[in-house]
Amino acid sequence: MTKECDICSRPVLEQCSLCEYHAEAKHSLEWAFAAWKRAYGIGWEEYLEKVVGEENLGDWAREVVVYLIEQNDS
Ligand SMILES: [Zn+2]
Repeated sequence: MTKECDICSRPVLEQCSLCEYHAEAKHSLEWAFAAWKRAYGIGWEEYLEKVVGEENLGDWAREVVVYLIEQNDS
């Protein structure tokens, strides 16, 4: 049985709960977070809250951020 992405319904990559597009977006967010963490000393959740308000955030990335924030809340 093929698993589906937690965000959209595309098939997921192996060992992952996200499709290639959302996994790629999440990877980019994690890279960007490393820089934010160095520069501002903020935590992951605080970072997510900040980037979700960024106007130039891409659609894929925004969906991932919203998904991650919901996961943190639960
Ligand atoms: Zn997806």
